[in-house]
Amino acid sequence: MALTDPIVTAYVLVVTAIFGLVMGSFINCWAWRFTHGESVLKGRSHCATCNHELGARDLVPVFSWLASGRKCRYCGEPVSARYPATEVICALVFVLIVAKYGLTLEALELIVFAGVLLFLSLTDLDERIIPNGCIVVALVVRAAYLAIALAMGWMNSGQVLYYVVSAFAVGIALLVIVLIADKVFGRESMGGGDLKLYFVAGFYFGWQQCLFLVILSCVIGIVVALVGAGKAADEGEDSEGTLHRAIPFGPSIAVACVITMLVGDSFISWYLSLLG
Ligand SMILES: [Zn+2]
Repeated sequence: MALTDPIVTAYVLVVTAIFGLVMGSFINCWAWRFTHGESVLKGRSHCATCNHELGARDLVPVFSWLASGRKCRYCGEPVSARYPATEVICALVFVLIVAKYGLTLEALELIVFAGVLLFLSLTDLDERIIPNGCIVVALVVRAAYLAIALAMGWMNSGQVLYYVVSAFAVGIALLVIVLIADKVFGRESMGGGDLKLYFVAGFYFGWQQCLFLVILSCVIGIVVALVGAGKAADEGEDSEGTLHRAIPFGPSIAVACVITMLVGDSFISWYLSLLG
């Protein structure tokens, strides 16, 4: 369904934003429990510092954090701005996806993918892990979408094949580059999780948009690494050692995936227009 009526559009986007805030909160909680070895299904949410169980009024995305003065209501320890920030980012990304793709199955597919990207960004930042489960969910969702698109006649078999071939082309090309880089620099330049994520990106966006995505993710990754190295140097840490510690690259790829969802096609048409 394309969004044409302004009132319907506003309504759909507000509902999407609320859904995004709630999902952002849920993904935050799930990622935290994943990295701390707790089940997402068992037990109530609790304060990360004092373990006090959180009530309904502590669990309203963003607003609970603002209302409690950015502190835990029970122990007074500050609650990181990361939680409300993640919720707002999740809502914003969901809204932008629906604004671009309308109420379509493609929008739903990309919303699930964006949720997976948020989850693995959090686990990668905290524990330098991109869970295999995230890769599997992303691949299954994409395969299901392509199967439906083929069955419904939205895509022909050539188009579906393009995405399958792209996944392997992007994954193998980067694997070769990484193996060469590892040999040249004599240390691991990129984790296996990052490579799997590029494979997933090829499956979603095709190799043409992935050229844009790979460059974008590297630029983001390098900027983040330089900012991180600068910060560490300010704190008196050895900047060489910091760079060597290798930055989690997953969030950079995740951000590049989201930007590609939103503007990748415009970039390709602009690029092709340059070629005449
Ligand atoms: Zn507490």
